[in-house]
Amino acid sequence: MMASLIEHGIRSPAVLQAMAGVPREEFVLDGDRERAYADRALPIDAPGQTISQPLMVAVVVEALELHRGDRALDVGTGSGYQAAVMAACGAHVVSIERVGSLAETAADRLRRLGYDVEVIAGDGTLGVPERAPFDAIAVGAAAPRLPVALARQLVPGGRLVVPISNGPNGEELTRLRVINGRWVTESLGPCRFVPLIGADGYEGADTG
Ligand code: SAM
Repeated sequence: MMASLIEHGIRSPAVLQAMAGVPREEFVLDGDRERAYADRALPIDAPGQTISQPLMVAVVVEALELHRGDRALDVGTGSGYQAAVMAACGAHVVSIERVGSLAETAADRLRRLGYDVEVIAGDGTLGVPERAPFDAIAVGAAAPRLPVALARQLVPGGRLVVPISNGPNGEELTRLRVINGRWVTESLGPCRFVPLIGADGYEGADTG
């Protein structure tokens, strides 16, 4: 996995060290432990949901430009793997997940493995105002448009990395920075994610 990350352009020593150190086999289903390090998304314990492929996690976390002690928000906890990688980069992480059972399992797992992550069950499309502001925010599901509430929860100089729908062409991984009080966005390339469902996302069924 590490050779593949380097081959695909991951350069940040902190991100590479975090990816090498977080035990991905602890975040996949029991039957998938042997292929935990394959460069692909794998199913997790909720219909249609996945733990993202390692390269995409590394690209997103590198784009967050985390510094030790940063306050970071991870929207879409899933298995908790990306939150663990962010914490292993030295960030204090708040992670929010709309599927209650996933949030509970991930919280137990992250606590057992000793990562500095607070998991909250709920809709992350509006951020977590009671924990804001954040130095960095990652969204692990595809948004229909720029999630404005999240951008508003960034500090000056803060970074938001989010896949945004590009119509029929899939999604564009987008980074927003707050520079001199303005939002400056750039495209980091095409990507594929499950939909972000919630008040400022796509419509979806209620979940427990
Ligand atoms: N990064 C995760 C990991 O490392 O396992 C995988 C994220 S998975 C591709 C996307 C997750 O986003 C799913 O668990 C889904 O339930 C969650 N999600 C979708 N909409 C959400 C919302 N509005 N708020 C919080 N989580 C949401």
